Amino acid sequence: METIDLTALKKYTRETGQATHPELLDARPLEHVNKIEIDEEHITIEFDEKTTRYYNANEITHREWVYKYNDDPAFVAAVGRVIELARRHLKDLPENVACPPGCAECCSGYEPFVSKADVQRIADHLGLTYGEVMREYVVARPSADGYHVGWLRKISDDIADRCIFLMGPRSGRHYCGIYPARPHDCRDFSPIGCEDVDTSLPRRSAFKIGAAFQPKRRSRNGRRR
Ligand code: SF4
Ligand code: SF4
Repeated sequence: METIDLTALKKYTRETGQATHPELLDARPLEHVNKIEIDEEHITIEFDEKTTRYYNANEITHREWVYKYNDDPAFVAAVGRVIELARRHLKDLPENVACPPGCAECCSGYEPFVSKADVQRIADHLGLTYGEVMREYVVARPSADGYHVGWLRKISDDIADRCIFLMGPRSGRHYCGIYPARPHDCRDFSPIGCEDVDTSLPRRSAFKIGAAFQPKRRSRNGRRR
């Protein structure tokens, strides 16, 4: 770790190009790192992303730490080694960053939370009303901040069961029945580091998606058909 002599800030700034006014020094720890970028002069770390929700918009902010490393030979060498290591691992990435077709193990045992916008999107997609989607497909449990209104139902009361919208008879044949309208939680789900993957599935086999999910309509006497 480098120690900055606070009595020689101007000299340090001149030599390194880094701002060192005491009020600009941010001594808080880096937490929840979102992105690390390395160019030929700087390492930039984006962290602590925060979403502030307003009535009709979200404001996303993050903090940033930039280190100008190119005048530190030991650091340059270390960065070179990291880049080389990353290059070697890049060969494995196509296998690691994509789900094997038809897996969808995460659509069981995982309960995607839904916001009002998610419910409305699913309702529009299925040709139902907001209330119908809430009643038929959502376990209503508003979050403390009021943003989420509940989570998607399973086909039974067992939380490890399949999502009500999951189609396909077995692993390797699964697909999401409301894919274009799926909740934000599902869109955000990353396969990187996923431990639920069904490793028996071939990654390069052809996979044909079947019919989309169709809601059960109620007849006039209230029965489903
Ligand atoms: S690999 Fe993981 S993230 Fe991808 S579908 Fe399977 S369980 Fe879900
Ligand atoms: S909505 Fe689709 S992607 Fe999300 S859990 Fe259900 S089946 Fe999976």
